[in-house]
Amino acid sequence: MKELFAVIGDPIAHSMSPQMHNDLFQYYSIDAHYQPLLVKKENLEAAIKGLKAIGISGFNVTIPHKTEIMAFLDEIDPLASDIGAVNTVVNQNGKLVGYNTDGLGFMKGLASLTSDFVNQKILIIGAGGAARAIYYTLAKTGVKGMDICNRTVEKATHLIETCPYQITSEALSLEQAENKLSHYGVIIQTTNIGMSPNMSQLPLSINFLRESSIVSDIIYNPLETFLLSEAKKKKAIVQNGIDMFVHQGALAFQYWTGITPDISRMKQIVMEQLGGTKC
Ligand code: NAP
Repeated sequence: MKELFAVIGDPIAHSMSPQMHNDLFQYYSIDAHYQPLLVKKENLEAAIKGLKAIGISGFNVTIPHKTEIMAFLDEIDPLASDIGAVNTVVNQNGKLVGYNTDGLGFMKGLASLTSDFVNQKILIIGAGGAARAIYYTLAKTGVKGMDICNRTVEKATHLIETCPYQITSEALSLEQAENKLSHYGVIIQTTNIGMSPNMSQLPLSINFLRESSIVSDIIYNPLETFLLSEAKKKKAIVQNGIDMFVHQGALAFQYWTGITPDISRMKQIVMEQLGGTKC
């Protein structure tokens, strides 16, 4: 019988995961289907019970359910538990087990640009859910120094103080980060600035950006944010959010099937959906 996979969220119609995973199932001759499912906040518990009852093989979880879903799963992987969010669920012999592949997905994308990120001084811009997954994962991997700047500095402070892994970090205002931007070899942009309706804005001024530093913006729509186009002018190495998106999906696919999928094929499918070739 055909296996069922899904992504749950609200909204969900824009998700690029169904095409990416359905292409992989076909490519690897797996008899399975991946379905987007609109699940409202108030229906989350009932939806999870229903998915379990029908024997779903696995599913992804997106906004706004990444944290709330944890209460309805049978087991949570330790990294996902530390991050406090789940984006991938695997049905292991009837038990729903939650994982977080966002941070690892980002890290794999970053590793495709530089193998030396562990020894670089890193700045994360933003302190929301994606920043938390990235910060915890990089901290667990042994990154030595990583600061966080955010519009609301208290959130950056909270993120640092609640991290269970040993790391030297400072919470900064956006202005403080602007002034010491030349200290950082890797800058990771995780705020919504750069997306519609803030497409012509920068999260912070990049006057002091170092030549050849890496600027990775996790936004993938648009493919090239204003930050990335300005960073390119300063001869930085830039990366958009496609790498993170594709790698988080690849890790989920691996949890479900045991297969390490073809990343370049996945990227191609996503690029086609976004209709671009930049970065
Ligand atoms: P979130 O939890 O809502 O966090 C949003 C962050 O953006 C916070 O740090 C917030 O600062 C900041 N922010 C929002 N509006 C701002 C503004 N006008 N000025 C300054 N800062 C602002 O969101 P998230 O889940 O972390 O997602 C953030 C972005 O990452 C989204 O664009 C999302 O599409 C993208 N994303 C990409 C991937 C991928 O696979 N590539 C995966 C996940 C997320 P405050 O704390 O001050 O509010």
